[in-house]
Amino acid sequence: MPVDKDELNRLLRQLPQVDAVLSQPALAQPLSTFRHAVVTRLVRDELARLRERLKRGKQAAIPQPDELAQRVANRLAELSRPLLKPTVNATGIVLHTNLGRALLSSRAQQAVADITGAYSNLELDLTTGKRTRRDVTLEPLLYALTGCPASTVVNNNSAAVFLVLNALANGREVITSRGELVEIGGSYRVPDVVMSSGCKLVEVGTTNRTRLDDYRRAITEDSALILKTHTSNYRIIGFTESTPLSDLVALGRETGVPVFVDLGSGYLAPDAGARLKEEDVQEVLDAGAELVSFSGDKLLGGPQAGIVLGAKEHIVKLRKSPLWRVLRIDKMTVAALGATLAEHLHSRAADQPEITQLNHLAVSEAEQLKLARRLKQKLALYQPTWEFEVAEGTGFYGGGSLPEEQLPARLVTVKSPHHSADRLDTILRHGDPPVVGYSAAGVFALNVLTLVPGDVERICQRIKEVGDGD
Ligand SMILES: *Cc1c(COP(=O)(O)O)cnc(C)c1O
Repeated sequence: MPVDKDELNRLLRQLPQVDAVLSQPALAQPLSTFRHAVVTRLVRDELARLRERLKRGKQAAIPQPDELAQRVANRLAELSRPLLKPTVNATGIVLHTNLGRALLSSRAQQAVADITGAYSNLELDLTTGKRTRRDVTLEPLLYALTGCPASTVVNNNSAAVFLVLNALANGREVITSRGELVEIGGSYRVPDVVMSSGCKLVEVGTTNRTRLDDYRRAITEDSALILKTHTSNYRIIGFTESTPLSDLVALGRETGVPVFVDLGSGYLAPDAGARLKEEDVQEVLDAGAELVSFSGDKLLGGPQAGIVLGAKEHIVKLRKSPLWRVLRIDKMTVAALGATLAEHLHSRAADQPEITQLNHLAVSEAEQLKLARRLKQKLALYQPTWEFEVAEGTGFYGGGSLPEEQLPARLVTVKSPHHSADRLDTILRHGDPPVVGYSAAGVFALNVLTLVPGDVERICQRIKEVGDGD
């Protein structure tokens, strides 16, 4: 709509002054508790937004000052609420990066709660009274679990890889297969990480085939590391060949170039019970890799962290690097990771009931079917004119773990006579608690694989609130 200049100027002149909005009753209470500068900033923003809308012809009249004041009061209330909301994961993706990846066990949650409101022995050795290091506390647990005596922990696995490359190979060559120059997600691309950590990338082999000889020919005086990246999120199939880790390790020993494996997921297979088709941390260590790194919040089921296991001489260098301090973990991570690793000490998946990925692995199809039927029946009570069906679907581990591994899952499909699938998706995502399902081929679905106790009731509560006109 073209904007009439005179009319616009008339409207702009009518805009209330900042002080006029601030003196409205709706802001009296907020002004008694919130910083004056904050409230003023939000009032100015509100007026600027209004001015912009008037100029673009999107607004034909000026709201009353008390309405503007109320908007600012609402905005303040919104800003005061917790930023992160517990969210129902009905996507069927167990380690969903957007939804916070692994859930912490109750022991790990408790460990975090216990040390955050109190002082703790984070870096104090209580026996000697001397200063220690926060990562040293985790070392005995990682040793007991893997047999690797030296380890360190940093902010996440990306940080771990960056630290290893920078501290051990800065300015020198890092040899890696062309088949492993992958992008993990976000901005994590192996070639970029190698180069920005100060190393020279030496690519060997081809996308689909890399042989031991390719590595051998690339080794020079300047070679610092052989990097093997677990290609977590894709597979090359067909005419392929990659070099077994044990052969690479033998080559590394012969030529004095250590092998570093970026494993990604950090799977510790249980002694008994279902075993995932994922490379185990132990297998990599047993093959003789000098260094291994993996995430804390993928298949390990703990907090965000990057764990590096390796030969003592390398770990010492990592700890001495100025980057270590830049990438160090905080006490909440130490507490949560410690509790998570302690759960992994148990031999059977059944004794580690609360570690997310094992938990979801343990949800049998029969249990899922029962859960899906219960959800469907309850939902039908709240929205009798809608259609709910139990259907077969698939789930995924997510977070770059086991990309091809589809988990059997049950869904409840939801059809409303008033709302499209996309609309339902939006409505349920916007409420409290947000429910994240997915709409595919025009149908909205809730995948029960990733539901946690209480989620059926949470979903019902939300569906109950959906009005015909939403
Ligand atoms: C996930 C992953 C990373 C990144 O780990 P974050 O903990 O998310 O930083 C790096 N390398 C591989 C192989 C991965 O799978």
